[in-house]
Amino acid sequence: MFENLSDRLSGVFDRLTKQGSLSDEDVKTALREVRVALLEADVSLPVARDFVKAVQDKATGQAVTRSITPGQQVVKIVHDELVHVLAGDTEEPGKLRIDNPPAPILMVGLQGSGKTTTTAKLAKRLKDREGKKVLMASLDVNRPAAMEQLQILGTQIGVDTLPIVKGEDPVTIAKRAKTQASMGGYDVYMLDTAGRLHIDQELIAQAAAVRDVANPRETLLVVDGLTGQDAVNVATEFDDKIGVSGVVLTRMDGDGRGGAALSMRAVTGKPIKFVGLGEKMDALETFEPDRIAGRILG
Ligand code: GDP
Repeated sequence: MFENLSDRLSGVFDRLTKQGSLSDEDVKTALREVRVALLEADVSLPVARDFVKAVQDKATGQAVTRSITPGQQVVKIVHDELVHVLAGDTEEPGKLRIDNPPAPILMVGLQGSGKTTTTAKLAKRLKDREGKKVLMASLDVNRPAAMEQLQILGTQIGVDTLPIVKGEDPVTIAKRAKTQASMGGYDVYMLDTAGRLHIDQELIAQAAAVRDVANPRETLLVVDGLTGQDAVNVATEFDDKIGVSGVVLTRMDGDGRGGAALSMRAVTGKPIKFVGLGEKMDALETFEPDRIAGRILG
């Protein structure tokens, strides 16, 4: 297992001369450990480097307080900075812009990222916590199994799905969802777009065409939180080509340390709105920067 950062830093400071304030040299030595810890937590190298630089400026010259050790003091500075970067200046996490019914939510992401599961989890959450009437529609015309999966989940959680009509293209399905949502008095309709194993032209063109007819209030990108740097590349590309309003990181119940969250936030600037914490329909939580920061630090 990873050695946790506090232990690591205590070791470093034990070797250093005791002083009244954190010297440049102390901080530099400690920050080398911080950088290694970030890389082990799967934070990308440029992000770790920039992060360490920001912390260095904050830490140098800070008076050493009696109540905590210099190691703990640096951990606190690092923790606060992590929270700062993760939270950004975005609106409340977990809040979606879904007034003016029916509000379309576009769900995008690679195949296997957990997109369909997340669509259903989010629908359930909106229904249970906010009393919203939600309609879900699958646009994955190439994979009938994916369409059926959404339907099965809908039945399981008590959320309506748009009836499947064979042979329709995604744009037509999106239009039908919009009509049904308006006529049926739905607050929200969710469009679960097709996923592919890799980002390709067709995938992007299809998602863009759907976006143009649906005019989504939120476009949520679902990414596998265990995929590290790949997750960041996927987010950058989807945001460039489709425009993303928020990110859902799945599989945060796994062994990963959550470094992808930091990289993603730092590189794309997009808010992480939710995290997926398991396969069950209730395993979706509001993103909490504080918790992820703690996890990254180990
Ligand atoms: P899609 O191809 O992107 O629509 O992916 P699916 O929604 O079908 O999910 C693929 C697999 O990942 C399924 O077995 C899900 O149950 C599982 N899954 C989705 N989200 C999570 C999560 O947050 N944690 C865990 N452990 N599994 C998840």
